[in-house]
Amino acid sequence: MTDEFTSEIYYDEDADVSNIEDKTVAVLGYGSQGHAHALNLQDSGVDVVVGLRKGSSSREAAKDEGLEVTTPVDAASQGDIVKMLVPDTVQPAVYDQIRDELDAGDTLQFAHGFNIHYGQIEPPEDVDVTMVAPKSPGHLVRRNYEKGEGTPGLLAIYQDATGEAKAEGLAYAKAIGCTRAGTIQTTFREETETDLFGEQAVLCGGVTDLVKAGFETLVDAGYSPEMAYFECLNELKLIVDLMYEGGHMEMWNSVSDTAEYGGLTRGESVIDREGMEEILEGVQNGEFAREWINENQANRPAYKQYRQAEQDHQIEAVGERLRDLFAWDEEQE
Ligand code: NAD
Ligand code: MG
Ligand code: MG
Ligand code: MG
Ligand code: MG
Repeated sequence: MTDEFTSEIYYDEDADVSNIEDKTVAVLGYGSQGHAHALNLQDSGVDVVVGLRKGSSSREAAKDEGLEVTTPVDAASQGDIVKMLVPDTVQPAVYDQIRDELDAGDTLQFAHGFNIHYGQIEPPEDVDVTMVAPKSPGHLVRRNYEKGEGTPGLLAIYQDATGEAKAEGLAYAKAIGCTRAGTIQTTFREETETDLFGEQAVLCGGVTDLVKAGFETLVDAGYSPEMAYFECLNELKLIVDLMYEGGHMEMWNSVSDTAEYGGLTRGESVIDREGMEEILEGVQNGEFAREWINENQANRPAYKQYRQAEQDHQIEAVGERLRDLFAWDEEQE
């Protein structure tokens, strides 16, 4: 291992918004990312048109912000840059509607690499295919921009038909505030595979299963669910905040020596490294992607079952009751 950075990182001085000044960006979707990109681009002086289905409840919200709203097909036809910000599972169908609107030299741009990397969208060779992806939910991308601050982002070039893909991608990143904080150069493969691995093994999957297993171990041993909830779920935020602010050492420095010694000697024993490697293999060899694509085609039977089981878990009811009793959240927001 090395402590040298291996990725290029770009800042405002590396990017020039004038590279997209004469272009129109068609933002397809107005959800978490869509609203933030459209509004930040508009405030940066870039021409934006938002593509939404007729009857979409977001249409009024976008119009209220002074944005031009039309159908996805019409937006794509106006756009020189077509930004795919509908849900990943919906993108192939939306792409089929708008593919004929992609002219030679246009750009098809993503905020996540799944559909390109796993071959669910196969754009023509004469368009640029890029990714500009904030490493954060959309409401923070918007909030940071409005405060004059930035959001870290990713830039990847999958296909550079014009030779201008990188300059254009950096201009877009600057216009949404991502080069204020730093934009890391990556690839569609790296972004997709690390994103899926991270959300499965560590962030969304790993952490919830760790919390549930800890909660169940205490409750099965006869401890009260309320104590188990506080110990295994509520305190997690305090620990993660310390890690976020100052790394593991800030966290270890802030807890007691007893917690530090116990954690350093016992933590690894709950980690299944082989299980992690299997998760990564399933991401790399496309097995997870195939499973998820099939699951969606079958109208999500397993997804619905897993979701229901999660909803029915004791920790949900305990948490709901406790969060009502202790209003600690409101004070912090
Ligand atoms: P979202 O679910 O918040 O919003 C989706 C939008 O698409 C909504 O406006 C919805 O009305 C619209 N939509 C749904 N179906 C449609 C259809 N058939 N035709 C037209 N519009 C339709 O999605 P999101 O979280 O903003 O994700 C968009 C992209 O950004 C994804 O590729 C995602 O991986 C990526 N991304 C998301 C985040 C995040 O934190 N949310 C972070 C980085 C990247
Ligand atoms: Mg066009
Ligand atoms: Mg991610
Ligand atoms: Mg993801
Ligand atoms: Mg403790």
